[in-house]
Amino acid sequence: MTKLFGTNGIRGVVNEDMNCNLALGIGMAWGTNLKKTIDRPKVAIGTDARLSNHMLKNAISAGLIATGCDVVDVGLVPTPTLQYAVKEKNFDSGVIITASHNPPQFNGIKGVASDGTEFSKDVEEEIEKIYFEESFSLADWKDVGNLSIWDGAIDLYLDGILNAVDVDLIKEKQFHVVLDCGNGAGSLVAPILLKKLGCKITELYCELDGTFPGHNSEPLPENLGDLIKKVPEMKADLGVAQDGDADRAIFIDEKGKYIWGDKTLALGAKYATIENGGIAVTPVTTSSCFDDVVKENNGKVIHTAVGSPIVARVMIEKNSVFGGEENGGLIFPEMQYCRDSAMSIAKILEIMAKENKKLSELIDEIPNYEVFKIKMLCPHDKKELVMKTIAEQTKDDNSVIEVDETDGVKLYVKGGWVLMRPSGTEPIFRVYSESKDKNRAEELALKYKKLAEDIIKNLS
Ligand code: MG
Repeated sequence: MTKLFGTNGIRGVVNEDMNCNLALGIGMAWGTNLKKTIDRPKVAIGTDARLSNHMLKNAISAGLIATGCDVVDVGLVPTPTLQYAVKEKNFDSGVIITASHNPPQFNGIKGVASDGTEFSKDVEEEIEKIYFEESFSLADWKDVGNLSIWDGAIDLYLDGILNAVDVDLIKEKQFHVVLDCGNGAGSLVAPILLKKLGCKITELYCELDGTFPGHNSEPLPENLGDLIKKVPEMKADLGVAQDGDADRAIFIDEKGKYIWGDKTLALGAKYATIENGGIAVTPVTTSSCFDDVVKENNGKVIHTAVGSPIVARVMIEKNSVFGGEENGGLIFPEMQYCRDSAMSIAKILEIMAKENKKLSELIDEIPNYEVFKIKMLCPHDKKELVMKTIAEQTKDDNSVIEVDETDGVKLYVKGGWVLMRPSGTEPIFRVYSESKDKNRAEELALKYKKLAEDIIKNLS
């Protein structure tokens, strides 16, 4: 288990747990790790719009330079822009200073591998080991690294997107888009992209501001009230909101209806597999509407453990045509293997143009499932055994069609599924269930929660 890196890199409150000493140490550990295999590593570093971006960028850069890495500062950029630069410009590694959608007092450090994907757990563990052992290998005085500045990352990224979609087709439609960048890093890319796609734009909170004055930067319905109101008011074709570092996008249809990320993800999967099928990848938690549309196109779905780096890596291994998470993180391999909100915007517009349909019509064609979520207590030391016992007990149960132990225990039953997943930090299981019938979804979650509770009782 890693101690510093969570599901999305290292995060904390600035000058409390996220401070210069930590960033410097992580920089030295990161550089030491790179130097094990690369003589003179080249590392790209970028930040989101938070007020502590310079503080942390300079501290981690100093650590990298001290170990003999050459650091290239790409400035203020969305996370997927940095990832694309790492891949296209052959950097050995990338650092993004961001706390994504967290409140403004937070900041974080996230690692990018040379192929542009997020760091795997293995690399994070190696860096942590060096950090805690303080086994830094500092460079000789004449071998310390250099620092240079490169401001071409955004243009490179925009070109990448424009080459990956049918620009002329989108331009013809002259879409009107209400864009809400939430004062985040997306402000530097999305307005330019939409202009290049011939769209009329109504901007909301598209000025960079690390205090996030517009609204909380998580694109949840409660934070997007202005956008939801503005889309029908302006008679726009759609609305879109990005999270703080612009790797995720959430859409609003022309009627002002908030579209949950599972539907957008399924829409992406549908059109990625529509011509030739192919493999689509998503975590076990994703709604079955994803599976339905892919299977209808004779494609195949692979379910992974939760986490976008895992999804991306399986996509590469399996030569997948599409993947992502249902939080608005869509991954388009024709661009890059990471969640990419600007690419999602361009692709959704392309689908609307190709199909000549309104966004609400496209979303209505995606099957609808009812979701039920509930928590239950379980001591940490019993979690493994509880999952194993559930899997064993239900294998002979005729009502269980399939047992999937990829991440937690997922039971496919008639008319739905239920997933019991242990929390990594709290003494609880999260129980998710899904069915086209609302009552059935609830009944499934409660039935298997009861089973798990009985197992826990018998274990004590
Ligand atoms: Mg994010």
